Amino acid sequence: MSDVTRGGQFLVKETKCESIFTPEDFNEEQIMMRDSVKEFVDKELWAHKARFEQKDYAYTEACMKKAGDLGFLSIAVPEAYGGMGMGFVNTVLVCDYISGATGSFSTAFGAHTGIGTMPITLYGSEEQKQKYVPKLASGEWFGAYCLTEPGAGSDANSGKTKAVLSEDGKTYKITGQKMWISNAGFCSVFIVFARIGDDKNITGFIVENDPANGITMNEEEHKLGIRSSSTRQVFFTDTVVPVENMLSERGNGFKIAMNALNVGRIKLAAACLDAQRRVITSSVEYANERVQFNTPIAKFGAIRYKLAEMATSCYAGESATYRASKDIEDRIAAREAEGASHQDAELKGVEEYAIECSILKVAVSEDVQNCADEGIQIFGGMGFSEDTPMESAWRDARIARIYEGTNEINRMLSVGMLIKKAMKGHVDLLGPASKVGEELLGIPSFDTPDYSELFAEEKEMVAKLKKVFLMVAGSAVQKYGPDLDSHQQLLMAASDILIEVYMAESTILRTEKLAKKEGADKVEQQIAMAQLYLYKAVDIITQKGKESIISFAEGDEQRMMLMGLKRFTKYTNMPNIVALRNTIASKLIDENQYCF
Ligand SMILES: Cc1cc2nc3c(=O)[nH]c(=O)nc-3n(C[C@H](O)[C@H](O)[C@H](O)COP(=O)(O)OP(=O)(O)OC[C@H]3O[C@@H](n4cnc5c(N)ncnc54)[C@H](O)[C@@H]3O)c2cc1C
Repeated sequence: MSDVTRGGQFLVKETKCESIFTPEDFNEEQIMMRDSVKEFVDKELWAHKARFEQKDYAYTEACMKKAGDLGFLSIAVPEAYGGMGMGFVNTVLVCDYISGATGSFSTAFGAHTGIGTMPITLYGSEEQKQKYVPKLASGEWFGAYCLTEPGAGSDANSGKTKAVLSEDGKTYKITGQKMWISNAGFCSVFIVFARIGDDKNITGFIVENDPANGITMNEEEHKLGIRSSSTRQVFFTDTVVPVENMLSERGNGFKIAMNALNVGRIKLAAACLDAQRRVITSSVEYANERVQFNTPIAKFGAIRYKLAEMATSCYAGESATYRASKDIEDRIAAREAEGASHQDAELKGVEEYAIECSILKVAVSEDVQNCADEGIQIFGGMGFSEDTPMESAWRDARIARIYEGTNEINRMLSVGMLIKKAMKGHVDLLGPASKVGEELLGIPSFDTPDYSELFAEEKEMVAKLKKVFLMVAGSAVQKYGPDLDSHQQLLMAASDILIEVYMAESTILRTEKLAKKEGADKVEQQIAMAQLYLYKAVDIITQKGKESIISFAEGDEQRMMLMGLKRFTKYTNMPNIVALRNTIASKLIDENQYCF
């Protein structure tokens, strides 16, 4: 297991490009899987996009049934319970390519296969798994996840829904109100979280959807986006649930809820990728066709700028998502090799990378929103019209920043979990952080570095950006101790630094691996994207580092840290980012699609 990089360790361990997985490493099975998902999406979803915008909930359900018939709902489910038992990368891959056409379907798919099914496959007893999972895997039944309540959103453990044990000890009666429940309108099974007595933590239950058993619903919510995803309030009134339907143990519900969300977060990031590819392709096609001032608008620098930026963020999202997916898969395999059950290995494997899952959720959900926003701008007035795919892409993208834990919560979680890991000794941040402290006091080297190898300077820059995080977060922990939690603006800034480091490093490593395989001259645009991403990451990190340092350090300490920040964000050779954008945009425009 020692070879597998631990969650959060990317920050202090040098990663070689050979050791990361990239989309270019898809094997034959994965390529076949991707192509069959794409075929389904083009035929059943993209071709009927208008129906999803017209609140055709029945069509979403019908497409979910078809996805079940084609086996797409069973990818992650172990073979023993009627699934395909595929690896984690495959499940992420399906999530990616099945989600691009419409957020309505991707939400239904994600809520069912993720938070609606995973709590049972990960925490269910053998009997529960035998009873429910095969039906969920085939699409005979659909699942929904009832955590949120009117008074309990981000503070998910504060729900008021109660579960009361009957006198004979055979059943619980559940009473409470849940809201924003995806798939509620057509599901057969709910995962419901409720509190028993005055327990500190909630408990999970599997509840079959039976209106005769005290389960009622409000009408569908009318939402900004994902309009054909069923979202309802669900009321449980003395709903009788057999004791054997408790998931795991009493009081374990919060843990189940959070772990289900960890898996959900990386899958949500994946689910934002194909949406970006489709927006980029539609935007390039439009930019090539649309003529103003006797010129296709694709020839205008202002439009080329947007296309290059959109493609770069999508490429970075792919790089980081698939890197983390394979790390999770490897961790699961290593645990199984040590004798853990698949259930336990998967649980711990994903938990290990919870930091990366939060990073990805935030980064990719914000990228898809920006991408769709620029897509609208490229379409001009037509972008604002329902007749083009841009406005629905923009509306659908918006929810990704809210559910599966808001981006504020995920930002704070990413840094909080990393600090906790360091405190427990799971990742050594202390040693590297004190080395950075010593470096700040030392005299910088004035040697002329050798940057002749591809990405030599960029990789050195990433190593320096990691020092910015260690310097800022390390000093902040020293200064505030456990009270750091209440300095949220500082945590948010530290999180932005962490996110940019992971995304930039993943993009560079993917491209380095690709260049070694194909030859650098064949992947000029990918190299340009990696360099452009890094340049922008350096800018963000400079700004976030500065505001953090100024917020908590004063006098000599502040001066020393600001000098350190300058040193750690300094390029020897500034890339010409206008030229980089032109390189990227020219390729997109020539190919008339997202082509990386
Ligand atoms: C379309 C849709 C589908 C959904 N599907 C499901 C589902 O299937 N099952 C389910 O259980 N839930 C579902 N949800 C609920 C979703 O997970 C919650 O909306 C989300 O967790 C945020 O909770 P909230 O809406 O109560 O916002 P709040 O928690 O009230 O947050 C409001 C704002 O305050 C911020 N905030 C809150 N707490 C803090 C804090 N400690 N520090 C800093 N900022 C904070 C938030 O980031 C946010 O910006 C869905 C929601 C929507 C809109």
